[in-house]
Amino acid sequence: MSTQKPAAANNREVDPSTTALIHHPYTPPDGFAAPQVGVHKASTVIFSNVAALRSRSWKERNGYTYGLHGTPTTFTLESRIASLESGTAPAHCVLAPSGLSAIALVNLALCKTRQQVLMPSNSYNPNKEMATGLLAGLGIAHQWYDPMNPADLAQRIDTALANGVTTGLVWLEAPGSITMEFPPLAHLVQVCRQRGVTSALDNTWGAGLAFNGFDLGQDERCVPGSGADVVMHALTKYPSGGGDVLMGSVVTRSDALHEQLRYTHMRLGMGVGANDVEAILRGLPTMALRYAAQDATARELATWLQTRPEVARVLHPALPGSPGHEHWQALTVSAAHPRGQAAGLFSIVFQPHITQIQADAFCDALRLFRIGYSWGGPVSLVVPYDLPAIRDGSNPYGGCVVRFSTGFEAVTDLQADLAQALAASAMA
Ligand SMILES: *Cc1c(COP(=O)(O)O)cnc(C)c1O
Repeated sequence: MSTQKPAAANNREVDPSTTALIHHPYTPPDGFAAPQVGVHKASTVIFSNVAALRSRSWKERNGYTYGLHGTPTTFTLESRIASLESGTAPAHCVLAPSGLSAIALVNLALCKTRQQVLMPSNSYNPNKEMATGLLAGLGIAHQWYDPMNPADLAQRIDTALANGVTTGLVWLEAPGSITMEFPPLAHLVQVCRQRGVTSALDNTWGAGLAFNGFDLGQDERCVPGSGADVVMHALTKYPSGGGDVLMGSVVTRSDALHEQLRYTHMRLGMGVGANDVEAILRGLPTMALRYAAQDATARELATWLQTRPEVARVLHPALPGSPGHEHWQALTVSAAHPRGQAAGLFSIVFQPHITQIQADAFCDALRLFRIGYSWGGPVSLVVPYDLPAIRDGSNPYGGCVVRFSTGFEAVTDLQADLAQALAASAMA
């Protein structure tokens, strides 16, 4: 679905991540002017006669054909996510039943046998697992590149090509999973563009709020208006905000890429449940407020943890000294957001003498931070990571790594929880 420009006084463009998501075009049934979108459920859609059945096509979207190919409810969410990611520039969106299935859709739609897919070495690990466990069996090769070094990406594309292997897709992610390195996105995109290689950004962390994945031109190496070709988003995280729904989206401004994505989406039979779509539609108007609150809490806690003797390093792109801080700053600091924007996510590296058993004991001692995956919901979460196991046997940071995601609890309570858990696990 294409995005429509939201109505605003004097043709002034309204803020795409707040006002536009609240005043987004939607036509309720006659005489029922409620702003919340209705929940339409269907497998079957009835046609008035055979001629109507023959003339309607899922491809053209000139009406509804079958529940799997969309309902008024899913079309509305697609349109809002396209606006969120792309602003007022027209874009297309498809929905998938989870963030990971959205990743699978991108991989399967855009990579062909005898091509390769490139992923950052600090990528969301299930995507790597998809490459080694699924794509490899389909004859699609993979390599991990160093996201902080655009020359490494260029060399991996060029060397493969010299050996007769074209690159079907390059994944980008900002920041990297768990270790939070913020890459020079514009420069990486430029490497892909110069070689005619399609790039896809996992924008779950930025959420369409911290920066625009289709416009990374703030970097001096990248012309304004250039960005990733495809932007994928785990709606499970910030758009939902409830910790209770799984969904993913894939947005592109390219008609040709959208067609490839949509055919694969149809062939795989990917559908989303109407009640889940409703939950995301309900979360969207408050997302920017929640994101800002979780960002503020995370920065306060991350800054405090920097002062703790047990902690060797805090990995949070908004903190000076964190890997790629300057890239984060170049992309997110603006007149509207002088402090930049960041998700409520950060990691700590314990001092090298602190053992995994002690780090695990610290996580067990936390009471408000609960042990669990995912982020973006109301409950603060913590996960200790075995970095060598997911990074080809190496840990560039030396000590044990623990990742936090902030919920909506009072920051004073969360800080007290961290302090009592550090004391209880007697690490100093
Ligand atoms: C959570 C997440 C995903 C996958 O989303 P699910 O809905 O849990 O499958 C993908 N990428 C990133 C960066 C994520 O954090």
